[in-house]
Amino acid sequence: MRRPFIAGNWKMNLNLASARELIAGLRAKLSPHLAYDVCVSPPFPYLFPVAKAIDGSAIKLGAQNLSTDEKGAFTGEVSALMLKDAGCTYVIIGHSERRHTIGPKDAVGRVCGEDDDMVNRKTKAALAAGLIPIVCVGETLGQRDAGQTEDVLTQQVRGGLTGLTTEQVAGLVVAYEPVWAIGTGRNATPQQAAEAHVHIRKRLASAHTAKAADAVRILYGGSVKASNAAELTASPDVDGALVGGASLVADDFLGIMMGCVTAKRLK
Ligand code: PEP
Repeated sequence: MRRPFIAGNWKMNLNLASARELIAGLRAKLSPHLAYDVCVSPPFPYLFPVAKAIDGSAIKLGAQNLSTDEKGAFTGEVSALMLKDAGCTYVIIGHSERRHTIGPKDAVGRVCGEDDDMVNRKTKAALAAGLIPIVCVGETLGQRDAGQTEDVLTQQVRGGLTGLTTEQVAGLVVAYEPVWAIGTGRNATPQQAAEAHVHIRKRLASAHTAKAADAVRILYGGSVKASNAAELTASPDVDGALVGGASLVADDFLGIMMGCVTAKRLK
């Protein structure tokens, strides 16, 4: 059975004091031995202090991005080995906020334009350093309305994971995050999420092996809250959640974990 996973993505939020408070709030209510995995993904400058704050708990550390390159003259970039040194277990790759234009088009720094090739190179860089990639895929509202959801997911899964070995694929985490559901308060229906997850797993099976596809954890992301976590993670193909806004408040994030525990009938 795949181990459920609840991953938090803090994006560019919190400060050092509130980050420490959040971790203390999570630790106060989480057993050090869980039947599922949990991670938080702080901004780069907080990785080290958060690594210290979670030490000895069940919470693992994730990063929100990494460089495609190992080292060199890449001002402002952070390599996979640096993330590993900072204590990361996971790294989020190809989040829609890095793939697509968000916010006002003239806002500096809002257009990362990461494509499947870059996602693929980052995934390989993460794996080479021993990090577990959380590879994000998902359609825009226009693509869903045009009936292109499955084609987009097929393309992103194929492009992002090309050239990986079967063993590497088996160890991956994929996050299905419909772009229209991220930070909007409008989540996918449990049926829409389940259909997308089944599709992704089928594509993984045909591109790699059924065994590898069966081992991959696929998380749903997009406006997950404590109140909808159980229904969104109930399908057998949904292995947990990637959580943005609700991961910034200890009780909300814990409520999502409880929802998943209920849905998966974990102890
Ligand atoms: C995310 O950032 O990956 C995300 C799903 O955000 P939110 O939960 O706020 O929709």
